[in-house]
Amino acid sequence: MISQKKDLIIFLGPPGSGKGSLSNLAVKNLGFEQISTGNLCRQHISEQTEIGKQIDLIIKTGKLISDDIINNMVFDCLLNTNNTNSIILDGFPRTVVQAEALKDFISKNNNFNLSIVRLSVEDDKLIKRIISRVVCSNLLCQRVFSLEKDSQHCSLLENNCDDCSSKLVRRKDDIIESIKERLNIYRQHETNLINYFIFQDFKILEIFADQSIADIFYLFTENFGVLHNDNNQK
Ligand code: AMP
Repeated sequence: MISQKKDLIIFLGPPGSGKGSLSNLAVKNLGFEQISTGNLCRQHISEQTEIGKQIDLIIKTGKLISDDIINNMVFDCLLNTNNTNSIILDGFPRTVVQAEALKDFISKNNNFNLSIVRLSVEDDKLIKRIISRVVCSNLLCQRVFSLEKDSQHCSLLENNCDDCSSKLVRRKDDIIESIKERLNIYRQHETNLINYFIFQDFKILEIFADQSIADIFYLFTENFGVLHNDNNQK
């Protein structure tokens, strides 16, 4: 029996670049599944699991969680997914160690085709976006909205989520010190991570993400097929 490989799509991008919003559209319109390491971490914290207790303070200060904890979280999800379609990795890998572990995982399991999409936005715009961001408090949703007037990401229900009506809240790590730390850490790892994928001969779909989410989604859907074929026909 020939087993069908699943598409695994890495969304690379700094905090606030729109990985979550693009994932949300891909989930709703294309039936993709999203694995967001940030969302998983927040679930652990809220449920006060052993992992949650270990990572609570680290997340608040904007530092990265250890590679081992994050890798296990992601690989557990990948092994247990029922989705036969494409899976988005939102916020993973963030370090070369994580990327190497993902490569090993894929070689061992041999049932995933990997593609990489990079969202880029300048830091000053990211800070502005994150400062005015609120998220759905329902941990199974965590959809992102903006408080900025006239933003395309405003909720129609004002203080509640358009998808599940739960209350919108600010993330505990969306304070300026933590935002700056997260951006610094992202930039420290970004070049090595991109060079790693280029060295592995992967093409990366680059999307300039300071444009409307509809345009970003359009660019993603238009170009994803080509990227997917280029990366997987080697
Ligand atoms: P995010 O929701 O993607 O902005 O992630 C929120 C926080 O979760 C980050 O600031 C990190 O503390 C932690 N985190 C999420 N993904 C990773 C990862 N791949 N590696 C290490 N820490 C992560």
